Amino acid sequence: MPSRTDKKLQKTKKKYKVNWLRTAIFAALVLMVIAGGIILGFTVHALKDLPDIEGVDFNNYSVTTKIMDKDGNYVEKLNSAENRIPVTFDEISPNAIAGLVAIEDQRFYDHNGVDVIRIGGAMLANLKAGRTVQGGSTIDQQLVGLVLLDRSEKSYTRKIREAALALKLDKMYSKDEIITFYLNRAYFGRGAYGIEAAANEFFSKSAKDLTIEESALLVGMIQNPSKWSPVSYPENALSRRNLVLSQMEDIGYLTKEQRKQFQATEITLNLNKNHTTNAEGQLVTTNQSFVDTVIEEALTALGIEDNDSELYTGGYVIYTTLDPNLQSYMYSYYDNDANFPRSEYGDLLQSSAVVIEPSSGAIRGLIGGRHVSGERQLNRVTQITRQTGSSIKPVAVYAPAFEAGYSPGSVMDDYPVNYNGHVFNNFTRACKGLMTYREAIKGSVNTVAVKVMEQIGVDTCYKFVENLGVTTLVPSGAANDKNLSLALGGLTKGMSPLELAGAYSACANDGVYIKPYTITKIENMNGVVLYEHKQEMHVAMKESTAYMVNSSLVSVCGESGGTGSRAKLSGRPTAGKTGTTTDRKDYWFAGYTPQYACVVWMGYDQPKQINSIKSAGGSCGPVFKAIMEYAHQGLAVKDFNKPSDVVSVTIDTKSGLLPSELTPAEYQRSELFTTSTVPKETSKVWVSRNVCAESGGLYTEYCPGEPVSKVFLQREVPWQNNIAQGVSAPADSALEVPEPCTIHNSSHSSSKTLTLHATLNGNNVELSWNSLGDNVFYELHRGTSSGFNASSANLLTQTDGYAYTDSIDGSQVYYYYVVAYSKATNAPISASNELSIAGSSYSGPATPVNGNTSTPSKPSGGNQQTSTGSLNLSLSSSAGSVTLQWSAPGADNYQYFIFRGETANFTANNSSQIAKDTVITSTSYTDTSVSSGHTYYYKVLASDRNDTSKNPISASGSVQVN
Ligand SMILES: [Zn+2]
Repeated sequence: MPSRTDKKLQKTKKKYKVNWLRTAIFAALVLMVIAGGIILGFTVHALKDLPDIEGVDFNNYSVTTKIMDKDGNYVEKLNSAENRIPVTFDEISPNAIAGLVAIEDQRFYDHNGVDVIRIGGAMLANLKAGRTVQGGSTIDQQLVGLVLLDRSEKSYTRKIREAALALKLDKMYSKDEIITFYLNRAYFGRGAYGIEAAANEFFSKSAKDLTIEESALLVGMIQNPSKWSPVSYPENALSRRNLVLSQMEDIGYLTKEQRKQFQATEITLNLNKNHTTNAEGQLVTTNQSFVDTVIEEALTALGIEDNDSELYTGGYVIYTTLDPNLQSYMYSYYDNDANFPRSEYGDLLQSSAVVIEPSSGAIRGLIGGRHVSGERQLNRVTQITRQTGSSIKPVAVYAPAFEAGYSPGSVMDDYPVNYNGHVFNNFTRACKGLMTYREAIKGSVNTVAVKVMEQIGVDTCYKFVENLGVTTLVPSGAANDKNLSLALGGLTKGMSPLELAGAYSACANDGVYIKPYTITKIENMNGVVLYEHKQEMHVAMKESTAYMVNSSLVSVCGESGGTGSRAKLSGRPTAGKTGTTTDRKDYWFAGYTPQYACVVWMGYDQPKQINSIKSAGGSCGPVFKAIMEYAHQGLAVKDFNKPSDVVSVTIDTKSGLLPSELTPAEYQRSELFTTSTVPKETSKVWVSRNVCAESGGLYTEYCPGEPVSKVFLQREVPWQNNIAQGVSAPADSALEVPEPCTIHNSSHSSSKTLTLHATLNGNNVELSWNSLGDNVFYELHRGTSSGFNASSANLLTQTDGYAYTDSIDGSQVYYYYVVAYSKATNAPISASNELSIAGSSYSGPATPVNGNTSTPSKPSGGNQQTSTGSLNLSLSSSAGSVTLQWSAPGADNYQYFIFRGETANFTANNSSQIAKDTVITSTSYTDTSVSSGHTYYYKVLASDRNDTSKNPISASGSVQVN
């Protein structure tokens, strides 16, 4: 660039020829001024105390800090009051210079600050019209007006002062310098100060690249940026641009043909995507929330937290992780109220969202709230901590469980549980029963989350969450987070959306946690690097754990019954989880793909119950989906990495074990395990039972027709009745073994007494008895004394028939009775009379009489107790307790169920069952929940765990407690 002196020399030579004319007219003007005495007075007054132009640095724009995006492009200045980027003369397109001269000041290069000819012409025109229709201000005058003078001064006074200062200015600076000052100062609308910002704002380019039509449009706007705005008034803007083009032809910059050709083109804008007009009609930067976050980080990085103005005026260049297109989309989405639920209470229902790239921790987009205007307002991504509800479950419960060796195929009973008087229930109060962890995650089941956390330990879970970068957990004190409420997100202080997003990102990133960040590098104005980001990262969980979480959360969004279906991205595996606090004050959706993680929060700034939201999936889900669909545009579909130690195995979903022959198809599915946790045992929760075709109840000897064999669910640990008010049976209790048939029962067959007859024929006793129906079998016993107990040792036969011939020793007396059993249940139904037979050569006391029928007596035990069945149940009591003892029905693996009633015909069912919480495999049990003086009736049911297709064996008895 030539020095100022060279320029002045050039100018002097160029204008030599016209100087006489200008001087003459200027003299005439001065005469006219002098002629008007009043005007003179004004002039003298106006020229008093002129600003000191020598002291003004027209280049002095404050050096503000610049924000650059992820690709190193300039996006924003920190101080957003004036969006100006100063440029040099060489950085301005000649088209813009020519256009400005053509429209504002055609004799710019010929006058020395004041254009006398123009003033004269303007005065004539104004006199003619009787008002001001033309201004005579040169570019020089306008510049001093912009920089030096108080715009509120009266126009006449100001004009004189402008003229005087313009003459001075023209002596001090070259024409190129003056036009550069001018184009850097002028306001173009949409917040753009200076030609560079304007080119950037309207055409997304630099001033040096402006075309002829673009230049004409921009310089035409300077006198009235709103009237000639191509955004608000495109027709005005077009005619103004075409006027400028005509004037450019006038000054010889364009030929007539060029002028016509350019005037025929339409206006094509390429508006800066970072700036938009908000719902309130204000032009705002879409990057504000992101920039606010950058400021928070920069103050810490530079160690100037106590003096943030230093950051604004320090001239730093801050390189960030910003994706301006994504940010702009997020801003527009949040600016549209139609995308959000209705606000209540006169408060705006707030929301925030953040998008992170899990592979780097880079924050790509961030919205700190709805309808935020101005800098550094409340940032609802980084500065608030709220209850997370269920959105914490994947990272606080299931990831630690998978890390501990459990799998999405592990099974837990969805039924409320009481821990120290606190009953953890589901949001809906309904429970489904046995389910896999995957199902529990999908349906956001509270009872299972609490039980799983209890199983692996609160401390383990607490540490796991902390290790995922969450800093707001409270370890101790009156209110702390080391308790089971952690499983449901009932946190003491809550969690910030950013930290939740960071924790989820670790799952998306194969288990490696990376602390989220926005700043990659900070340079000072001389390009010296002051700060460079270093990733803070560590392995937070095994790859297999992360993959199991990912897979489970994909089910949340992609499978029927999942709570996240409205967040599912089309054609991409989408992992995610809803969160709703129990008081419905906070709603969340947190989720991710391998490429991006996103958290959306909704709630009021002063937490209040939100009635306009029905579900987190239906409110936050669509926001998540819209933002993530935009973020993934043009990206290849990517699946989560499946580690080599994760395998798929078909399991029984009611036990988590391998399916048995009885497992129904609908309760089998393929599930993930690590190679070391693959189940090897076969499921035992399904049993086969005979039921009455008519009632569906267990088949009894009284049921007509053939029994129907059906498969039922049999829990190892029965669910506990009446655990809390309003808790009903788990849904899958409908699959459990039913009660015996009630429409065909003994009351209809009470006449069926079992009577035993005998006839002695030589040394053969011919025994016979009556039939009790088709579904009964009989056991005939023989003893050598009256009142003997039935045992396998004295069993003569087990038969479906009604007769038996016994060979005896003729010198003895024998005692017989027969017991009838139900084929369906193996339970004893009836016992016959006991009869005695003396052999033909018997010569002992004459008490027994051949063929006589003694008083019917059931097989009986001691004084206080009776028992039947092949378990040989015996009951004994001592003060306050009853001890039950029985023998195992065989060498097999038996489990026993114990029932207690207060009447002889009590029903063995869930409510009469005792010791529900234990799996009884030993052959004795002491019941301490009894009262002295009462008589209790017990039933013991033995179930073969190795062959559950067998009917259980039962025994019953009664005892009076001492
Ligand atoms: Zn029946």
